[in-house]
Amino acid sequence: MKRSARSCWLGFDLGGTKMMAVVFDGDFEVAASVKSKTKGAEGTGEVLERIQSTISDALQEAGILPTDIGGIGVGCPGPLDLDRGVILHAPNLSWHNVTLKATLEKRFKCPTVIANDVDAGTYGEFRFGAGRGARCVLGIFPGTGIGGACVYEGRIIRGRTGSCMEIGHVLVQADGRLCGCGHRGCLESVASRLAISADAAAAVYRGEAPALQRLAGTDLAEIKSGTLAKAIKAGDSAVESIVRGAARHIGLAVANTVNLLAPDVVVFGGGLVEAMPEIVVGEARKAICAQAMSAFTKDLKIVAAELGDNATAMGAAALAAAEGSKP
Ligand SMILES: [Zn+2]
Repeated sequence: MKRSARSCWLGFDLGGTKMMAVVFDGDFEVAASVKSKTKGAEGTGEVLERIQSTISDALQEAGILPTDIGGIGVGCPGPLDLDRGVILHAPNLSWHNVTLKATLEKRFKCPTVIANDVDAGTYGEFRFGAGRGARCVLGIFPGTGIGGACVYEGRIIRGRTGSCMEIGHVLVQADGRLCGCGHRGCLESVASRLAISADAAAAVYRGEAPALQRLAGTDLAEIKSGTLAKAIKAGDSAVESIVRGAARHIGLAVANTVNLLAPDVVVFGGGLVEAMPEIVVGEARKAICAQAMSAFTKDLKIVAAELGDNATAMGAAALAAAEGSKP
């Protein structure tokens, strides 16, 4: 790989269960990639230490020094104070006001940017994946929650102090289920992986999903995206209709957003989409085309993400590079 001074970039994906540090060369080819468990329950100090050792391991694996990287980009769960580089609150990590940017800048002595993980993933797809070259890319990442992001004319659309596009909390069912945010009927409450798994567990309980019964029983923690996909392949039509129903709801929320933004591309990513791209993207596409204005859907690309697991790290590294090249 190329190894002139500060020609590499480091992208970091900080998730609730795992973290990943990826070293990219100047052409954004992967030079090294190291994963660790997040283990948020161990406390802020432990996790911060593990983030730094994971980065060090990745640099070592790539055979480079911190002085060889031009910057670090971190995609992390929010809410974030983007300007100060502070994670204000990360419920999955029990974090409050963690000064991640300052910590990493001090340790690795290079500029660091932090971004919302879905923003970073969508930016990655805009730069290197399914949204390349588009004027307006809408990214939707259904998972434990449902994240949304928009890259418009090369920039991530932001709110006043942090990220925005919380499509998971758009109302899709008046007086519906209670959502984690405290309101009722949000998209997340009917279509997140958690909501799907809960409905699937109920189907197992009713004896309607024999394959899922064998694979996971009614244990929510075991009913992951890949397990749902296996159950559907094995013939659990009840599970398939639950997933299709969720994807339809996601499509309806996206259709509303398409009417507001008229994007060129809608990119679907995340674990649920990776496990069942045809079902999730296909069903969402049908709902979008049925509901959004035809002028906006005529040439609209509705596709699965291309970068997979690397999207957030790659987008975060590219953001660090873009920040670094600013005058
Ligand atoms: Zn909500």
